[in-house]
Amino acid sequence: MANTIDLHTHSTASDGLYSPTELLQYAHEADLRILALTDHDSTNGLAEATEAAARLAIDLIPGIELNTDTDDGEMHVLGYFLEYERPAFQETLKVLRDARARRGERIVELLNEQGVDIKWEHVREIAQGAVGRPHIAQALIDAGYVQSVPEAFDKYLRSDGPVYVARRKLSPLDAIRLILSANGLPVIAHPLTVPGMQKLQAWLPELVEAGLVGLETYYGPYTEEQVQQLHDLADEYKLIPTGGSDFHGPGIHPTPLGGRFVPFEAVERLKSEASKRMGTNPPEFVLPPTDKE
Ligand code: AMP
Ligand code: ZN
Ligand code: FE
Ligand code: FE
Repeated sequence: MANTIDLHTHSTASDGLYSPTELLQYAHEADLRILALTDHDSTNGLAEATEAAARLAIDLIPGIELNTDTDDGEMHVLGYFLEYERPAFQETLKVLRDARARRGERIVELLNEQGVDIKWEHVREIAQGAVGRPHIAQALIDAGYVQSVPEAFDKYLRSDGPVYVARRKLSPLDAIRLILSANGLPVIAHPLTVPGMQKLQAWLPELVEAGLVGLETYYGPYTEEQVQQLHDLADEYKLIPTGGSDFHGPGIHPTPLGGRFVPFEAVERLKSEASKRMGTNPPEFVLPPTDKE
């Protein structure tokens, strides 16, 4: 039987190739019934996605993916069932996206200094929403410097590469708090990819204490053994095992849309947890200033 659930997808509101409407159409063709849109640092695709989902009788879960950085590595935090229209939440996301834009501009400057002739204006045309390195990769392809996105990362954009600029630092704990401030449910994304099992185990007690509710267990390419490992860890901390493909467009990540089985129980548990919080007064969150601003 075909899979019917995918809880990790991207659209043109961040670095996905499809608009929210196109993504929902594609999900419909893949027979999906429940889809979460989880763009990086942006909920700007959610209104359009919700409308398209209603037309196609797909249950759309409003989500987000926040990239966080620690001195010890990167971690991504998903948020589900967000009351995303809350003004304070949107203001914080805008600060994060503006910082992404400044960082993108700086990466282009560094490329220019190395004789790579791409224009920031062109990157801005490619990125319709939150700017990321994949958009700069596309500009490098358009200018003929590389053939593919992975090649662009390999040659220029990787985090230990020649033009890497860090994102504005958001800590994992602050990402959790930001999601909670919109009554959303924080879930660690692809835990074995980043931060990896060792750091995950070291960080979990504090993250759970801060309000973490789930662990992305059924992730794209993870093996049955890895899924079992994460499932056991989720059980240990009473976390909800979630999952999805991390779809960005055909061929960008190895797993196609809906290409990873996610049990319905994951959605039931998320919904039950979300319904307890809906409409209640969430804890406030204030983004700590950085020394660079
Ligand atoms: P950024 O958010 O600007 O730091 O860019 C990170 C995004 O780039 C990730 O979410 C991935 O989608 C993509 N990415 C990271 N590394 C690679 C790679 N080696 N090849 C292709 N895409 C990558
Ligand atoms: Zn992405
Ligand atoms: Fe991610
Ligand atoms: Fe993702």
